[in-house]
Amino acid sequence: MDGTRTARLMDGTGLAGRITEDVAKTAADITLRTGTVPCLATVLVGEDPASVTYVRMKRARCRRAGIESRQVALPASVSTGALVDTITALSQDPGVHGILLQHPVGPHIDERAAFEAIAPEKDVDGVTMHSFAAMGFGLPGFASCTPGGIMRLLDEYDVDLAGKHAVVVGRSAILGKPAGMLLLGRDATVTYCHSHTADLSAIVREADVLVAAVGRPRFIAGADVKPGAVVIDAGYNPGNVGDVDFGTARERASLITPVPGGVGPMTIAVLLAQTVEAAARQLAVRS
Ligand code: NAP
Repeated sequence: MDGTRTARLMDGTGLAGRITEDVAKTAADITLRTGTVPCLATVLVGEDPASVTYVRMKRARCRRAGIESRQVALPASVSTGALVDTITALSQDPGVHGILLQHPVGPHIDERAAFEAIAPEKDVDGVTMHSFAAMGFGLPGFASCTPGGIMRLLDEYDVDLAGKHAVVVGRSAILGKPAGMLLLGRDATVTYCHSHTADLSAIVREADVLVAAVGRPRFIAGADVKPGAVVIDAGYNPGNVGDVDFGTARERASLITPVPGGVGPMTIAVLLAQTVEAAARQLAVRS
């Protein structure tokens, strides 16, 4: 023995599979009891290849889980007004239970205005100001899917967050910021790091729970991982590489998410789970 440890892997693929099985059962139950199939509307602006792939993947997962998906494809030239009108109509349509507007929508569009046209009860991707505030206040609402997936992974592996120092590297509106808010809501002591943070290594070394959400391959060195830390790598960079140097970090961490197969699969699983939850609420189905 050389005294090094090897972290236990946090299996996002397995957990996402179990969540999706539960979603499929709930979707079938809702359909049986109400005669209405839970429905997610996906709104795609333009033909960005990555966005087209993401939306196709989300729709395929919906189909497999017994969720209907209604695709609205708009030209890249669509105006903010026309996009807002389209989303408002979906918000008012009783046959639609969840709405996903695929980001990005193009520089000439006011993306925030488009997101805000999503009714809070249909905001299954957790992108509206209402959902963000609910996350911050700890009130009922839909979480951003990737941070929501991170919390489910932490719970699955019984990570006790109260009093722990959680360091979140990255502060984007869809990932870092809400992840920190959800960790704070579970009584962790949260530090955010970003591109202006001084001596990032010193802060990362203090983390009991480290969430990497930067978008830079192997940005966090294993030597900076506190021995025994829980490492959540949300990064997904070209070549299937995360934001953490996995090979060296796993020798110091107690638990670590692999890339791929950690955080990634959880995002769509949470989207599906929140869609059936939205449908159940709108159709007044009790569990
Ligand atoms: P983003 O919007 O580009 O945000 C990156 C964050 O990292 C920013 O807050 C930025 O700080 C910070 N940052 C950049 N350089 C830094 C540095 N040198 N030191 C410290 N912080 C630095 O990215 P994102 O959308 O949050 O995504 C982050 C990563 O997660 C990407 O790899 C993305 O592919 C992945 N991701 C995965 C999923 C999934 O489903 N698994 C979902 C979403 C994103 P500033 O705010 O100061 O600029």
